[in-house]
Amino acid sequence: MSKTFMVVAETRDGKLRQVSLEALQAAELAKEDGDQVTAVLLGYELEGPAEELARCFQGRVLVVDHPDLKSYLAETYISALSQVLSSITPDLVLFGHTTVGRDLAPQVASRLQAGQISDVTAIENSGGDIIYTRPVYAGKAFEKKRLIGGSGIITLRPNNITPAGPASSPAEIAAFDYTPASSLRSVIKDVVRKATGKIDLTEAKVVISGGRGVKSAEGFKPLEDLAEVLHGAVGASRGACDAGYCDYALQIGQTGKVVTPEIYIACGISGAIQHLAGMSQSRVIIAINKDPEAPIFKVADYGIVGDLFEVVPLLTQEFKQA
Ligand code: FAD
Repeated sequence: MSKTFMVVAETRDGKLRQVSLEALQAAELAKEDGDQVTAVLLGYELEGPAEELARCFQGRVLVVDHPDLKSYLAETYISALSQVLSSITPDLVLFGHTTVGRDLAPQVASRLQAGQISDVTAIENSGGDIIYTRPVYAGKAFEKKRLIGGSGIITLRPNNITPAGPASSPAEIAAFDYTPASSLRSVIKDVVRKATGKIDLTEAKVVISGGRGVKSAEGFKPLEDLAEVLHGAVGASRGACDAGYCDYALQIGQTGKVVTPEIYIACGISGAIQHLAGMSQSRVIIAINKDPEAPIFKVADYGIVGDLFEVVPLLTQEFKQA
């Protein structure tokens, strides 16, 4: 029997998030001939993102475009998704493992009485069985799981699956007739974002992270310069956040964000297990630390023993010239 895959796509500042294209690709990896993929896009003024999404797969983009959905609010988004789910019965719903995805997925799982697997990093169809891989023990090991019976929900960790690319023929775009909830509800008047850089940390291809070794808020400046040259984002250890050198929004690790960039440069970070939990799956790890015994060197692909205030500006200078 053919299956229906539903990808819940997200936008940020009017642009489609890359993790949504990765979730589409995950659906492609899981599906078999005859299976259907529907991408659901919720928000306001979605023409551009809907077209971008449609270019990347064969199937259907269901657009729920309404002023009430301009900013994410669990109650309005779940109301809209519930309406969509009354017209589709998906076998598998895929979310990005983002703040929004992590909030919505369990609510949808509860409504559908479905099993959920979170933080999936790989997906494969093995003779009709869909196998999901996810990290356990703070990234020290991976487990493979299957969902048994009925519908299933997964959230997908960003930057682990190649995003879906242009399809030979685009998906059909259909508008969903959303009925706003008439009862009393919360309304978002304004969104004030903390200044955390132009590039989303969890989706950045390059992350330059600072630890207690940066010594002050000003100490992050050389890291920001390097990030600018490499089109990357700046992150931090909890040590740096606790010391007040930067905002907690930058914290990477067990109790912070999980990142899996192509290049992770750790500057003045010792490499505590709780920090490694958030970055050890990065493709290439470069550590800069003046202590040759620092544990970060055990997970690093390249290590530079030296003072970050000398090494980082040199790297910036070299990359500028490259
Ligand atoms: P330190 O351990 O103090 O290391 C600083 C490093 O900088 C040293 O290795 C030093 O050699 C180097 N250094 C100093 N000066 C220079 C210089 N000029 N040039 C180059 N190198 C220099 N931590 C996280 O990061 N993320 C988490 O999510 C997190 N969650 C936690 C949850 C729990 C429940 C607990 C108990 C802890 C958690 N921690 C987390 C904290 C963690 O255990 C470490 O304390 C923290 O990661 C240390 O930060 P750090 O490496 O910046 O500081």
